[in-house]
Amino acid sequence: MEGDRPGALVDSRAVSAVPVEPLDELKAYAADVAGCTRCRLAQGRTQVVFGAGNPHADLMFVGEAPGFHEDKQGLPFVGQAGKLLEKLLAGIGLSRQDVYIANVLKCRPPGNRDPQPDEIEACESHLFRQIELIEPAVVATLGNFATKLLSGRPLGITRVHGQEQETTIGSRSVLLYPLYHPAAALYTPAMLKVLESDFARLPELMGRAPEPAAAPEPELTLVATKPAEQLGLF
Ligand code: URA
Repeated sequence: MEGDRPGALVDSRAVSAVPVEPLDELKAYAADVAGCTRCRLAQGRTQVVFGAGNPHADLMFVGEAPGFHEDKQGLPFVGQAGKLLEKLLAGIGLSRQDVYIANVLKCRPPGNRDPQPDEIEACESHLFRQIELIEPAVVATLGNFATKLLSGRPLGITRVHGQEQETTIGSRSVLLYPLYHPAAALYTPAMLKVLESDFARLPELMGRAPEPAAAPEPELTLVATKPAEQLGLF
């Protein structure tokens, strides 16, 4: 049979009969993004840091960009800020394996400088697609860059941390929850206190996250009986 030979034509009806799972799509998307050359950061990186964790997570964190260790290991938040993030997660009974962690930029900016507007623009569709595929109920943004990008507002993290807001990302309604960046909190005890108390509200927010858009009501088929019996009024 033709389809048995490598490289032979495959019947497209047979292929489309297999459902494509979001997990497979996420893996395929990660493989695509691994070769991204949309911006200058492609030249200096060791590798793309796509994201890591539970691909079905209800809670997703979005940081700023990979640093030195992330670039070397290919995983987000593996340095000191990552250690603090893990400690904060443990405080609410979660581990890295329960959540998904990604960044606004997937490649390390040289010397850990701030992301540039054109780099964010080049990279943002990767993050939006990731969120669509993971389908988290709550997206916690860590610091200014993730917060401004995903809220679509210029308000800084000092103004908006701890204030959840419903927003639409791609086709998804999610609860956005801005938090101080753990790297900033590492060196500022007062900020760490605020981050801890904002973090403590995450379980409550996950419980009350918005439902996915409601399916249309099914049409009711009325079965006629005598009006007095239906209403029980007479
Ligand atoms: N590590 C990351 O992966 N992202 C940050 O924003 C900071 C450290």
